[in-house]
Amino acid sequence: MNFKTCKQKSNKKLLKASIIAIVAVVLVISSVTPTFAITYRPKSELINRFISLCNQHSEASYEVIGKSYQGRSICIFKIGNPNAPAVMWDGSMHGWEDLGSETMYHLTKWLLESNDPEANRILQRNYVLFIPIVNMDSSERQNKNYEYSRYGVDLNRNFKYGWRYSSSKSDYPNTYHGDYAASEPETQAVRAAMAKFRPVFYVNTHTGGSYLSYDQNGNMNKVNAFLSLYSQLARDFGVSKYSVSGGRAGNGLAHGDAKEFGGTGFLFEMASSSGAYRHTSPTLSQIENYYFPKCKPILIAMCQASEGKEVSTSVSTTTSSSETTQSESNTYSSGQSSSTTSTSTSSSEDRQADDDQDSYSRYRYYRYRTYYRYRRSRYNYYRWRR
Ligand SMILES: [Zn+2]
Repeated sequence: MNFKTCKQKSNKKLLKASIIAIVAVVLVISSVTPTFAITYRPKSELINRFISLCNQHSEASYEVIGKSYQGRSICIFKIGNPNAPAVMWDGSMHGWEDLGSETMYHLTKWLLESNDPEANRILQRNYVLFIPIVNMDSSERQNKNYEYSRYGVDLNRNFKYGWRYSSSKSDYPNTYHGDYAASEPETQAVRAAMAKFRPVFYVNTHTGGSYLSYDQNGNMNKVNAFLSLYSQLARDFGVSKYSVSGGRAGNGLAHGDAKEFGGTGFLFEMASSSGAYRHTSPTLSQIENYYFPKCKPILIAMCQASEGKEVSTSVSTTTSSSETTQSESNTYSSGQSSSTTSTSTSSSEDRQADDDQDSYSRYRYYRYRTYYRYRRSRYNYYRWRR
């Protein structure tokens, strides 16, 4: 072996060793920091946090309301007075929309640990029910039942009210409604909770827009009371309000089913797709500092309205700056909500970002628009010929 071939061999060895070293380093880095861009907690961890919070406080407890398609427990956390009117929220029905789940955790902490007079009042006079995660199996939009569709079932199309076999078929990637109404175990669990606790208000949280939409077939006296109280509280707390409008539930959307059990449903789109969507931004601290304060007046207003408070006479709150405590006296008549209700003010971008809206009414609108344009073009054509 001459000197040249010996040198070539050692070069080759060096090259091999350095490639192996680089691959090893890349593997180590990717296994250590695969979640750097993700701000959410794994589902099981968040549920465990809820459980340990409940275990520390006698005013809270929890139970399993059903199992997911793959057999995971779906928990409901019960906070406050079991004999009082109930307000129920749920989250992560679309598995990748977990802003509601995280916000509910902060609301629970506030209720149990803040010693805020308003929180203590709720603990005595209301029953707050949180189902933080409905879709326990999946971090995608739909559940893990691939029996009838390779996309799984969109749980927010699987509820009973307005479910139609013809809509949201199995080849719809994002909105397959399931084989029949309430076919999915997750849907059945939420409906079982509605039947058992009969919430006055039921809130189904999502992240595909920035608005609150109530079922206008629900109890409008309660809704109007909520709207007045919400406006007042948001002003007192110094937080910007979500736009609120009434809409027609249906199409198998979850909030449409609340009426069957004596309540009124809300579809709550908490952030548009540019915000907290699919486990991206905002960070956990943004949820605590922005979304939690924004949602607190909604929960308080619902609690107050659920116990029959229609006229707000004296609301004592701490302002957002936490410097002064205000006590305001305002009188609202129960029918005076029209000024506080903005009708359909959310942008069309938001409305199209997620299709939790009634897609049927949108379909009818486009069909009408197409027909109208066709008629106009024919009319112009004949006028031109004459
Ligand atoms: Zn959604």
